[in-house]
Amino acid sequence: MDTIKQFIKYYKPYRKMFFYDMGCALTLSGIDLTFPLLVRFLMNEVYVLNDTNEIIKFILIIGSILLGMYILAFFCQYYITTWGHIMGARMESDMRKELFGHLEKLSFSYYDEVNTGKLMSCITNDLFDISELAHHGPEDIFISCIKIVGTFAILSMINIKMTLILIFFTAIMLAFSLYYNRKMKAVFAKNRQKIAEVNAITQDALGGIRVVKSFANEAIEMQKFEAGNEAFVKTKSESYLIMGKYFSGNGFFKNILYLATILVGGLFITRGEMNLADLTVYILYINTYLNPVEKLVNFTEQFQKGMTGFERFLSVVRTKPEIDDEPDAQPIGEVKGDITFENVSFSYADEEKNVLSNMNIHIPAGKTVALVGPSGGGKTTFCSLIPRFYEVSEGKVLIDGKDIKHITQSSLRDAIGIVQQDVYLFGGSIKQNIAYGDPKAGDEAITQAAKKANIHDFIMSLPEGYDTFVGERGVRLSGGQKQRIAIARVFLKNPPILILDEATSALDNESERYIQRSLDELSKGRTTLVIAHRLSTIRNADEILVLTKAGIAEKGAHEALMNENGLYAQLYNMQFETA
Ligand code: ADP
Ligand code: MG
Repeated sequence: MDTIKQFIKYYKPYRKMFFYDMGCALTLSGIDLTFPLLVRFLMNEVYVLNDTNEIIKFILIIGSILLGMYILAFFCQYYITTWGHIMGARMESDMRKELFGHLEKLSFSYYDEVNTGKLMSCITNDLFDISELAHHGPEDIFISCIKIVGTFAILSMINIKMTLILIFFTAIMLAFSLYYNRKMKAVFAKNRQKIAEVNAITQDALGGIRVVKSFANEAIEMQKFEAGNEAFVKTKSESYLIMGKYFSGNGFFKNILYLATILVGGLFITRGEMNLADLTVYILYINTYLNPVEKLVNFTEQFQKGMTGFERFLSVVRTKPEIDDEPDAQPIGEVKGDITFENVSFSYADEEKNVLSNMNIHIPAGKTVALVGPSGGGKTTFCSLIPRFYEVSEGKVLIDGKDIKHITQSSLRDAIGIVQQDVYLFGGSIKQNIAYGDPKAGDEAITQAAKKANIHDFIMSLPEGYDTFVGERGVRLSGGQKQRIAIARVFLKNPPILILDEATSALDNESERYIQRSLDELSKGRTTLVIAHRLSTIRNADEILVLTKAGIAEKGAHEALMNENGLYAQLYNMQFETA
């Protein structure tokens, strides 16, 4: 019930359209219901007249009435088809917008749990079902109910016994339809699942085509595919068997209904309980009301599909972002870049064990701190607490002495630049991708940033220069080139705090050296946290923190730590040997 109430809310902006739509539906139903009555009038009162001129006069009058009605029907049908659908589409787009806005608000912890690709495709289908329901739902129910009730009301006035017989046959037919409708729904769901399985097999095999070929395992993949494909054709055939019974059965019942009408009607005529005109009316009305009955049967499915979709939609938009600005959150203002962790503990949602426990760290403004340690020690986690991608479980993170919980997220993140191992470039030009760091930047500033990131010369060597298209279907860039575009982005953003999370670890030695220079340049005058697996790149840090699962194992400058001959020295030597 609550779901339906929520659903109705989305009609609000389109109240006018909705009522016009319903008005048109009402008019159309009325017109359909009137036709047999006019025919009856003609047969009973007009065609039996003795005066030919009178007959012609009546025919012209009724003909004009009908023509008028049909012209009206034309406009109503036009309105319903165009504006009814447009209303559905607008509601769909409203929901999509709300959804997108909400998805942007949700925190990282949400995306850790959810498969976004699946979510998006699911919601695309859902929204289509919702939009269909939004438009056809009320209109179909309204038209169908009026037509069915109207038909039976009119028929009962003509002959109640005959009408009861009609109702009896209709009830049998309805039971049949509902039964098969449910069966079809189940088998359609199975169909969808099977085709999804075939698609998954195909995707997997094609995604790993290099592996398949290098192991010469095409035959094995074919076997897997065939099994899925066979299962698909089996359920598909099953569904056609049911569909066959449903459609032919429906047709049969419909014909029986006509047959019963003329037989019983004939019987009533011989007994003088009704006349030919009445029988004609019955036959005409069968058509008027069978269609709505079918629509109502189908509606149950449409309703269920639409509502399930809508519930899924609601469950997403009702998910509260784990991290939200406090009502009195303030912008951070001018940032010096002093970072403090005060008794910080952190664990990921649903995980019992803390990744970070009781950390107390102070990073003075403008200093460079290196985080080193074994993989899984919590370095990335540590860094993601500073822009508040995750909420600390205990303790506080302070920037320039201000608890970041009381600062607006957008101003906080404006103050922090992050360069990661994987670079994401958006579909668009190189220029647009760099400008992502500061959408207001002019061409000159963008070029400057690219120069500082050592990527300007390369960009200029491309035929289309800064307008070269990158991203999914754009020009192929090497890991190092992408990384330098990402660095240019951060140069342009010019944040007081910088986080470099294994920014060079995906690169070969040559590119790494190249990028290291840009990074050194970038970190000048900023508070910098650097995570690197190549220890040579962090020797120059003001302080080194060795982070392990147990917490901070060691901290100090390179020389001091080497002299200590502890974990850091061990890690360093190991690196040095392999390098
Ligand atoms: P590092 O960067 O030092 O390699 P991470 O901070 O990535 O370490 O990971 C620290 C620990 O937290 C690991 O045990 C890892 O499995 C876990 N972890 C990392 N990210 C998540 C996440 N999004 N959800 C749950 N656990 C995570
Ligand atoms: Mg990491």
